[in-house]
Amino acid sequence: MLPHEGDILNRVRYRPETPVLPEIARAGVLLPLPLAGAYDYKLPPGINAPRGALVAAPLGNRESLGVVWGPAEGTVGDNRLKTATPLEGAPSLPAALCDFIDWVAAYTLNPPGAILAMALRSRGAFEPEALRTAYVKGDAVPARLSEARKRVLAVAEDGLARSVPGLAEDANVSPAVVRGLIAAGALVTTQLPEFAPFHAPEPDFAAPDLNPDQAQAADALRGAVKARAFSAHLLDGVTGSGKTEVYFEAIAEALRQDKQVLILLPEIALTIQFLERFAARFGTRPAEWHSDLSQKERRRTYRAVMRGEAKVVVGARSSLFLPFADLGLVIVDEEHEQAFKQQDGAIYHARDMAVVRARTENCPVILASATPSLESFVNAIGGRYSHLKLQSRHGIASLPQVRIIDLRREKDTEENGKWLSPPLRAAMAQTLGAGEQAMLFLNRRGYAPLTLCEACGHKLTCPNCSAWLVEHKYRRRLACHQCGYEIPAPTACPACKTEGSLIACGPGVERVAEEFAHFFPEARYAIASSDILHGPAETQAAIRAFARREIDVLIGTQIIAKGHHFPQLTLVGVIDADLGGADGDLRARERTFQLLHQVSGRAGRAEKPGLVLLQTRNPADAVMQALAKSDRDGFYEQERGYRERVAAPPFGRLAAIVVSGHVAEQVRAVARELGKAAPVAKDIRVWGPTPAFYSLLRGQTRERLLVQAAKGVDVQAYLRAWLGKVKIPTAVRATVDVDPISFF
Ligand code: ADP
Ligand code: ZN
Repeated sequence: MLPHEGDILNRVRYRPETPVLPEIARAGVLLPLPLAGAYDYKLPPGINAPRGALVAAPLGNRESLGVVWGPAEGTVGDNRLKTATPLEGAPSLPAALCDFIDWVAAYTLNPPGAILAMALRSRGAFEPEALRTAYVKGDAVPARLSEARKRVLAVAEDGLARSVPGLAEDANVSPAVVRGLIAAGALVTTQLPEFAPFHAPEPDFAAPDLNPDQAQAADALRGAVKARAFSAHLLDGVTGSGKTEVYFEAIAEALRQDKQVLILLPEIALTIQFLERFAARFGTRPAEWHSDLSQKERRRTYRAVMRGEAKVVVGARSSLFLPFADLGLVIVDEEHEQAFKQQDGAIYHARDMAVVRARTENCPVILASATPSLESFVNAIGGRYSHLKLQSRHGIASLPQVRIIDLRREKDTEENGKWLSPPLRAAMAQTLGAGEQAMLFLNRRGYAPLTLCEACGHKLTCPNCSAWLVEHKYRRRLACHQCGYEIPAPTACPACKTEGSLIACGPGVERVAEEFAHFFPEARYAIASSDILHGPAETQAAIRAFARREIDVLIGTQIIAKGHHFPQLTLVGVIDADLGGADGDLRARERTFQLLHQVSGRAGRAEKPGLVLLQTRNPADAVMQALAKSDRDGFYEQERGYRERVAAPPFGRLAAIVVSGHVAEQVRAVARELGKAAPVAKDIRVWGPTPAFYSLLRGQTRERLLVQAAKGVDVQAYLRAWLGKVKIPTAVRATVDVDPISFF
């Protein structure tokens, strides 16, 4: 939740200078492993390696990649230290990255080596670069010159080095012809770098004419980039207002300054779409960085980023830890997205850490959203961030009208349908009749979230998690959305063995689609859902088909809520607007508002006006009312007031400790012991332990403790003192989540 970036900034220990180590150097070497700190090594005689230098460090009976982190701290004699050997020819990690790693480690209470591991995701990038063989024209002229051979030599005339298949293709001959010329000495070998270089994006390739609002925001951002100093900006504009076009101008300025740019997006699915849009504006695609890259692609990108050759990188969270040679701008798009919070391994919030990274690099950061996080909103209102607003949609598009459908008045009879109310169906019929497109949104994957036995009441649950099994009808399977466990859908109740007694409760997107097909048998539709059973490729295909108007209706989960621009989409139906609001956690209302606002924002993005229908059982709810009246700021003010009254983030701080392990009794005992050991301190309260929302997850029992502190409290110091008091057995883990955003 909040790092309240104000706090974050005050605590950045910015170390602009690289410490120079004394001759006969002993160095503290950080290994990319979750060890307590750097280990002391000696360096080979006469070698003086700066902070950030890469070394091969013996560790047990193997060798590990390591990074010189600072002076050695121990007093062990040189003769007892092992020697770490600097990697020949490998560039050092930039000092600002080393500082960033230290900062993130301290803030999230992770060992620095665990954070370093995230920055060394391509070990291959430090190895000597492989070269590839290519061919250029030689001096020898072959005796026999066929037409095919002449064509090859004509192509080679330009002096460029090409591979055998490359030459064959360019000359339109078979590779055998090329090989014949090599044998004859008419083509000779040369060596090329392993990878083709990244093309440089051109700042003025296809710059748009900005409208006055956009021009003003773009000016401010260009100025910030030119200033080459840290500053933070909230680019706050309604959906379709041109936020992307505006921050593209800031990128163009960074390119003119020969600086690198990092763009963080919450999901890979959005990254893929983004590449095309970027290429249309800058003439070439940016480099990408995310978990789907191959080792080879990683090596290429990592190296190019480190050498400053890849100018613009677009990526998911992990791209925050890339070794930029000269970073001049950081952008976080859809900054309110929860996906920016990494929940496994080292727990951190990429949006907050992006602000810190910009600070350590001394460059500006832009946070963009139509529905900012309350934290960023408060920072902008309070003047810590500059607040750049885009009030209206670009061009003649207007914001969609939002109407509430009170489900309490719509009886679900067989004829009415269970999930699509008559007013929603009437609007659908009208939209489809007019040849326009519609979207149905339900943030629930699968067919039905719960299957139970009509005879005995048994609910089908996951054996590894305290979670229901979700029916996926098309694949006839029941699956756990937490751990991926799945079974074929049984025909009889596993508890009482009654045949045919299992019934599906509640809808998922597949069930909505089934009902839609029943009422609109002619309409073309597809389901898009980020599913363990529906792969990302299928989702991409559905979204593309919708964009090309090969289908009329897209039925999906939050995957369809973000970023996409469909000009012919005029109707959005929200099947269950109350879903999510009932979570009862601090952020449930904010999240529901953001999600529904984003979904609504898909409608009416071109000339034709959009309509959004919200099906709800709580029409008077503040979230529904704010959406219907399009009173975003009113909602934010109300939410801000509430958080302030209860001293919740960003007006107070939270941290969670989750204790987990396979032996339930042991986990509970450790959690109780931790609870008792909590130091008493001013302005700090500790809640729990209590069973976590998923008290069983992937076979592990989970207990939670929650620390609530006043705004100025150094929560990390408190946690360190506390955790230092309790010896945690190796079979149990205590995971710290500073600024938790969800409470599962
Ligand atoms: P946002 O990121 O705020 O949702 P986008 O940047 O995606 O908005 O813009 C919405 C649509 O309007 C896009 O298709 C974009 O290309 C177009 N657009 C925005 N500003 C301009 C402009 N100044 N000139 C031409 N097209 C624009
Ligand atoms: Zn499970």
